[in-house]
Amino acid sequence: MSRKVLILKGDHIGPEIVNEATKVLHRIDERFHLGLQFEEGLLGGAAYDAVGDPCPEATLEKARQSDAVLMGSVGGPEWDKVDRQLRPEKGLLKLRSGLGLFGNLRPAILYPQLAGASSLKPEIVSGLDILIVRELTGGIYFGEPRGIRVLENGEREGFNTYKYSESEIVRIGKLAFEAARVRNRRVCSVDKANVLEATILWREVMQVLASDYPDVELSHMYVDNAAMQLIKAPKQFDVIVTGNMFGDILSDAAAMLTGSIGMLPSASLDRNGKGLYEPCHGSAPDITGRGIANPLATILSAAMMLRYSLQAPDAAVAIEQAVSAVLDNGLRTSDIYTEGTRKVSTAEMGDAVVAAL
Ligand code: NAD
Repeated sequence: MSRKVLILKGDHIGPEIVNEATKVLHRIDERFHLGLQFEEGLLGGAAYDAVGDPCPEATLEKARQSDAVLMGSVGGPEWDKVDRQLRPEKGLLKLRSGLGLFGNLRPAILYPQLAGASSLKPEIVSGLDILIVRELTGGIYFGEPRGIRVLENGEREGFNTYKYSESEIVRIGKLAFEAARVRNRRVCSVDKANVLEATILWREVMQVLASDYPDVELSHMYVDNAAMQLIKAPKQFDVIVTGNMFGDILSDAAAMLTGSIGMLPSASLDRNGKGLYEPCHGSAPDITGRGIANPLATILSAAMMLRYSLQAPDAAVAIEQAVSAVLDNGLRTSDIYTEGTRKVSTAEMGDAVVAAL
């Protein structure tokens, strides 16, 4: 099978962390004989500077021809004054929508070795393993009509439209139920069905879909309660499925339960399993070029890529085990450093994962 990977390094710490993930992928390719083929492209501020477009057509075309895309992160203050439509983050949105990436998977896993790094008590978070499945191309972020208009009385009014069609709900629901099947077989659908009609439909459609997955338990929760429960008793969740805006907010809250944004990978998938894989964090301009960025979120994103788009689940597990072994050995980049562990640079962390493989 073809295993073409497009690498988009992005801006600031993007190239530093992607270089480490690429080292790991070369090693895994050697060990598992995967026949990975790599190509590079431009995205974000780097693309804007080079060709005046944060997501050039050439990058989109390369991404369409690939089986998966591994990305660093984009953005930085030097592009703050650029026309809004040409900012680095717009390039990422264009790539996501150009590839039809409707499903965002964000695991929040707390490695037991890092339980002390969370702001919550270790007994509440240790062993945490949640998967948030967020709808990524619909809902209020994309709904039309939208805008800011002037009312008859001269006052301005901002407005957006929250809508989901049945097919959009089914599509993301299936992704969540399938994901739950290879985990603990529980899906919690998060909505605001006591107030919003769009989510009354969401709840109804999830209920109907659940009959196709009798081996998976479906529950429902209002988003305000879900926010509370994530902080109070996060281990009650296995898979959470929710719309674009609620998922945006809840996945950041879940990420912080683990205490270390530098550890969290993500995947955005299309209908056929093609995906864009990237760390949950941004381009961290405050630490760029200092060799201290944590590359593990990107390395773990590469593991997700092997699992979800490149049909190499054993290779994915090998990477995850190597990361765990490196943490067991006490190696830490500065964002996850605690007394008694050994502080290492970005490259030393990448090398240690390669060595563990
Ligand atoms: P950020 O995630 O870049 O940084 C937040 C804090 O976390 C900073 O203190 C940073 O040093 C630290 N941090 C982030 N990743 C780290 C890592 N791997 N290792 C160690 N520490 C790490 O968020 P921000 O500062 O709000 O945004 C910076 C830029 O990134 C902005 O231009 C923003 O638009 C962009 N951004 C891009 C993406 C993306 O590419 N998907 C996502 C979020 C933000």
